[in-house]
Amino acid sequence: MGALRLLFGTTNPGKLRELRRLVAGLPVEVVSPDDLGRTPPEVEEDGATFQANAEKKASAWARWSGLHALADDSGLRVDALGGAPGVHSARWSDLDPGGPASPVCELAGAAAVELGPVAGRAARDERNNDKLLASLAGVPDARRGARYEAVLVVASPDGARLATVTGVCRGRIGHARRGTGGFGYDPLFVPETELARAACEPGSSARTMAELPAEEKDAISHRGSAFRQILPVLERLARARGA
Ligand code: IMP
Repeated sequence: MGALRLLFGTTNPGKLRELRRLVAGLPVEVVSPDDLGRTPPEVEEDGATFQANAEKKASAWARWSGLHALADDSGLRVDALGGAPGVHSARWSDLDPGGPASPVCELAGAAAVELGPVAGRAARDERNNDKLLASLAGVPDARRGARYEAVLVVASPDGARLATVTGVCRGRIGHARRGTGGFGYDPLFVPETELARAACEPGSSARTMAELPAEEKDAISHRGSAFRQILPVLERLARARGA
C-alpha cells in the first residue's frame, strides 16, 4: 500500500509548504484541493470555537474527497478584550466597520481594488490591526497579554473525527506595528520568547512576529506547535495502512 494521502483543504500556500516540510520524512502525501483539480465545498465557519470550525471543515473535506483530511482554524485572543477577536480574528474589523480609517488602511484599500484578493487580505489585516490598537489605547504593557491559538483536526474519509490538537503561542500586543514578515496581527504581536530574550540581553529589544525570519516563527508559533503535535497521529495512520 502507498503513502497516506492527506487532503489539507487550505487556500494558504504558506501553510501547505509548512506542513509538507514537516511530513517530509513520513509516508504521507499532502494534497491540496488544487492538486485534486476540484473546488471543495464552501464550509461556513460559524462555530463558537476554533475546534468547532476545524472539525466542521475536516469532516466536510474528508467526505467530499474520500480521503483523510486535515483542517485548521486559528486566531488571536487578547486577555484585556475577554478573548476577542477569537473566532472572528480574520474579519474582526468588518464586525464594526464604523471606526475611523487610518491612512495606511485607506492606501491598502485602494490597492485592494487594483490588485485583487491578496491585497484585499492585506487591507483587511491593516484594518484589524488599527482596530486592535484602538481597542487597547491607554492599556499598559502589563495588561496587553494575548495568545495565538491554532487547532488542527484530522478526519477519516467517512467524516469521523480522528484527532484534535491545539497549539498556543503567548505574547503581548505592542503599541505600534513593526516588521513586514508574516501576516495578520504579526506586526503587533510580540512573542513571550522574545520578551524573555530581550530581558536577558541588555540593549536589545523584543521583536514582533513580523520581524522574525519564517523558520524562527515556525519554531515558536501556535501553528508550528500544532503541526508538530499532529505528526505522530499522521505517522500512526500511515503505519496502520501498512505504508
Ligand atoms: P486562519 O485560521 O488562517 O483563517 O486565520 C484566522 C485569522 O487569525 C487570520 O486572518 C489572522 O487574522 C489571525 N491569525 C491566525 N494565525 C495568525 C498568525 O500566525 N499570525 C497573525 N495572525 C494570525
